[in-house]
Amino acid sequence: MIEFELTDKQNMLRETLASLGKDVIRPQTLAWDRQKAVDEQFLRTFYTMQSSLRGPDNPMEDFYEGKKKRDPSKPVQTNRTAVVGCEMLAWADASIMLSLPGPGLGGPPVRASGTSEQKERFFGIFKNMDDELRWGAYGLTEPGAGSDVASIRTSCKKDGDAYILNGRKCYITMGGRASWVVIFATVDPALGRAGQRAFVVEKGTPGFFVGKLEDKMGLRANETAELVLEDCRVPVANLLGGEEKYETKEGFMTAMKTFDATRPMVAAMAVGIGRAAYEYARDFVKENYMLSRPIPRYAAIVERLARMNRNLEAARILVWKSVAMADHHQPNAKEASMGKALAGQAAINACVEAIEICGAHGSLKTDHALLEKWFRDIKVYDIFEGTGQIQRIVISKRLLTDLKSF
Ligand SMILES: Cc1cc2nc3c(=O)[nH]c(=O)nc-3n(C[C@H](O)[C@H](O)[C@H](O)COP(=O)(O)OP(=O)(O)OC[C@H]3O[C@@H](n4cnc5c(N)ncnc54)[C@H](O)[C@@H]3O)c2cc1C
Repeated sequence: MIEFELTDKQNMLRETLASLGKDVIRPQTLAWDRQKAVDEQFLRTFYTMQSSLRGPDNPMEDFYEGKKKRDPSKPVQTNRTAVVGCEMLAWADASIMLSLPGPGLGGPPVRASGTSEQKERFFGIFKNMDDELRWGAYGLTEPGAGSDVASIRTSCKKDGDAYILNGRKCYITMGGRASWVVIFATVDPALGRAGQRAFVVEKGTPGFFVGKLEDKMGLRANETAELVLEDCRVPVANLLGGEEKYETKEGFMTAMKTFDATRPMVAAMAVGIGRAAYEYARDFVKENYMLSRPIPRYAAIVERLARMNRNLEAARILVWKSVAMADHHQPNAKEASMGKALAGQAAINACVEAIEICGAHGSLKTDHALLEKWFRDIKVYDIFEGTGQIQRIVISKRLLTDLKSF
C-alpha cells in the first residue's frame, strides 16, 4: 500500500523546493531568525509561486474547496504530497513552513468538522490573497492545559444566537496575524471531553485580543502568540459543525482528528531539519577526512553518520505509511503518533550528533553556519502537536485496545 516512488508532480515539487531552499531561502534564514519574522515580500513571492504550482495533487486544494469534489472511496495523494513539501521546506527553513499564508493548523479542524457553509466561508478568504496575505490558526493549549487536552478551562456559555467565550490560549502559531482561529472551549469543565466545543473566532470580534508574542529559543522567525477572550460574543453560526454535532464528544474528537492530519506533517518537517543537519555533517566529514584513512576515529564517525541516516529514513517511511493510510481513508492515529515520536527523536539526535561530528566548528554562530540554528529549531518538534511522551501513550493505548496489531 505504501508507494515508495514519488509521482512526477511530487518529484517536481521536491526539486523546486530544493533549489529554492538552497539558493534563496538558506542565505536569508539567519537574518529572518534575528529579525523574528520571515520577510513578507518573500512570503508573497512564495504564495504566487505556490499558486502556479497548484495541481490536482495539491493538498491545499482540499482546504480551499467548500464541498468535496472527489469520490471519497478513491485513494488520493494529497497527504503524501503535503509531507513531501513539508519535509523539503523544513530542510530549507522550518520557520517558513509554519509561516506560510493559508489556514495553517486551523485548516484540518474546519475540514474535518465544519459544515459546507463554514468551509466555504472560512476557506473562501484564502482563495485569492493577491491583495493581502491571510492566515488561520488553531487554539487549543492553555496555561495549565497542554498535553492534558481534556482539562481546558476556556468557557463558552450560550446567550441567544451566540456563545460568550472567556479564557486564555497560549503558544498559538500565527495567532497574532490570523484572520480566524479555531478556539476550543468548554460548556462545563466537569464534563471533561464531552463538554468541549470548537468555534471559529474571527479577528476583530469584540473581546478577542492578541496578548504577548513569545520570544523562543528556536523557530524564532515564526510567530507564537497568546490569545485572550474576554466576554467574546461568537455567533452560533461559528460553532464548528453546528450544535447537533455536540451531542457526542465532537469537540474533543475535532481536536484529535486534527492531530491525525497534522502530526505526519510536523513529523515530516522534523525529518527535513534532521536531514539538513545530517547532510551538513556528512559533507563536513567528506571534506575533512580522507576516506582511506584507517583510523578508529574515522570508523566511529561514519558509524554515527550511518545511524543518523538510518533513523531518519525509518522515520520518513513511518510518516509515509501514516499518510498513505489517510490517503486511503483509513484511521491512522497510531501510525501518525509513531511517525511523530520517531521523527522527533531521530531528528533531535541528528542535530546533536551533527554538531558533535563537526567539533567546535559545529557550535559556531556565523552567517553561514546553520547547524546551531537547526539545533535550536528542532527541540520543539518533540513538544508541539503532542510531546514524545504523549505519542508513546497514544501508541500504547492503541496497542492494548487492538491486540491484533503487531
Ligand atoms: C513553538 C510552539 C508552537 C505551538 N503552537 C501551538 C498551536 O498553534 N496551537 C496550540 O493549541 N498549541 C500550540 N503549542 C502548544 C503545544 O501543543 C504544547 O506546548 C504541548 O502540547 C505540550 O503542552 P505543555 O507545554 O503544557 O506541556 P505539559 O503538558 O505541561 O508537559 C510537560 C511535560 O510533562 C510530560 N507529560 C505531560 N502529561 C504526561 C503524561 N500523562 N504522562 C507522561 N508525561 C506527561 C510531557 O511529555 C512534557 O514532557 C505550541 C507550542 C510551541 C512550543
